[in-house]
Amino acid sequence: MSFTLHGIPVSRGIAIGRAYLIAPAALDVDHYLIEPAEIEGEIERFRSAQRVVTQELDALRADLAADAPTEMGAFIDVHSMILNDAMLVQETIDLIRTRRYNVEWALTEQLERLSRHFDEVDDEYLRERKADIEQVVERVLKALAGASVNLAHNVHGACDEMIVVAHDIAPADMMQFKTQTFQGFVTDLGGRTSHTAIVARSLGIPAAVGVQQASALIRQDDLIIVDGDHGIVIVDPAPIVLEEYTYRQSEKALEQRKLQRLKFSPTKTLCGTHIELCANIELPDDARAAIDAGATGVGLFRTEFLFMNQKDGRLPEEEEQFDAYRRAVELMNGMPVTIRTIDVGADKPLEAMGSTGDGYETAPNPALGLRAIRWSLSEPQMFLTQLRAILRASAFGCVKILIPMLAHAQEIDQTLDLIREAKRQLDDAGLAYDPTVKIGAMIEIPAAAIALPLFLKRLDFLSIGTNDLIQYTLAIDRADNSVAHLYDPLHPAVLHLIAFTLREAKRAGVPVSVCGEMAGDPALTRLLLGMGLTEFSMHPSQLLVVKQEILRSNLKTLEKPVADVLAAFEPGELDAALKRVAQA
Ligand code: PEP
Ligand code: MG
Repeated sequence: MSFTLHGIPVSRGIAIGRAYLIAPAALDVDHYLIEPAEIEGEIERFRSAQRVVTQELDALRADLAADAPTEMGAFIDVHSMILNDAMLVQETIDLIRTRRYNVEWALTEQLERLSRHFDEVDDEYLRERKADIEQVVERVLKALAGASVNLAHNVHGACDEMIVVAHDIAPADMMQFKTQTFQGFVTDLGGRTSHTAIVARSLGIPAAVGVQQASALIRQDDLIIVDGDHGIVIVDPAPIVLEEYTYRQSEKALEQRKLQRLKFSPTKTLCGTHIELCANIELPDDARAAIDAGATGVGLFRTEFLFMNQKDGRLPEEEEQFDAYRRAVELMNGMPVTIRTIDVGADKPLEAMGSTGDGYETAPNPALGLRAIRWSLSEPQMFLTQLRAILRASAFGCVKILIPMLAHAQEIDQTLDLIREAKRQLDDAGLAYDPTVKIGAMIEIPAAAIALPLFLKRLDFLSIGTNDLIQYTLAIDRADNSVAHLYDPLHPAVLHLIAFTLREAKRAGVPVSVCGEMAGDPALTRLLLGMGLTEFSMHPSQLLVVKQEILRSNLKTLEKPVADVLAAFEPGELDAALKRVAQA
């Protein structure tokens, strides 16, 4: 019988194949009390299972393909950290000692306590980390039972059209699928920001998460269609539906192949205007994907990912940062690399922020709190270390420094003072850097856009961060699903702030780009071009499809419909004007 399930689309594309069900590891364990004389032996049983899991994770890390998405290594590191964290290890040992629980019982009891604690946390991102702890505990329980978790082995021999269906998939286990031929996946659990969703997006596999009851309703070998564009899963489709989706799938594959042909063509509009297409990267080696996609530079290097997932919560030293920045610069081989200073806080908390005693952990509203440059200015030594590392990398290519979340003149001035101080320190140490390195600001707070002359006077370039500009203009927490329907890039207020910033920067002769998600959405390319944008920065996977839109656009014919969009405030009027932009 055919039926359809609905979930959250997290990775685009269409997959058609047979369901391959992965049963959730049973957390059903024996409960018994041990004798006092058995306590040390029971603790040793726990330690030895811990060693087995450490070996499993080390083997996964060693098996990582050179081109594996960078998030994958980070996920293994998170699991290794959890495996050795006192909240799991010490508390479990205490339960064995004080209550004389067998290790499996102690471990699941501690998992339950931690789960209750995480359920009370408001932050969606943190709530989703509960799944990481469950996955680590599952591994330890399996090691105790003598069965190591090896999905690669389990799925060996699976057919080519396999679609994985699971209650949940650990990101570390997802990596094992990289060497398997499978076409998509569906999970009961997960949200847009869950690790599994992040990995799926970076692997480019069609996926739907949060498809409730999928693993209960879908049976092994059922024929299923995953529509990753809409978060729909069709089970046992009727022949006509199957035919339709097979057709759509082949169309998409053809489009992808055609797009590859655009890689080496110059990025020019029909009227001959050259457009710069740059890439957003998170870690130095992502620069390879940028080059592969034909990017002409890195428009945004989000350096906070170097600071997150650090062992023991320590901050990376100057040398470690310098090596990372230099690596990206060298990989880009003379093309510009825009390195953004650390942007932590809000939905990207950093363990070290809690230790500064500034009350960050209890900040009532972290998105409006000590985030990005605000935190950097409150930690001048940390900031100077990063600035020195970035400046030193500038001796190896073309580096630009980008500052996130600026709003006030004094913040800009303080930042520029610290950059001068970092240069002085390098001079004293006799270390090389490019003295002409350009300094730019993210325009991502409405106040920055409205008070643009403050920025135009002080900085060399600007980059519009539409993700935060939308969040702060509309007062919508971008990480909060309950208000996700109000997060609207096409709200007239947002469009006016972008258009104003582009126009004023151009008038002042200050280069300006857009590096938020809007830049990578081909549905918005013409609108941004019509507003005067000539420099886009986006995830490398979006680059060619945006390029295609640019090659088909004519700035002359966009002028009138884009002016109509900016003159429209009523939704009906705005929709009509947007349609004219799409057809221009
Ligand atoms: C933005 O806000 O648009 C941006 C690019 O920065 P991030 O998404 O890292 O906040
Ligand atoms: Mg931002």
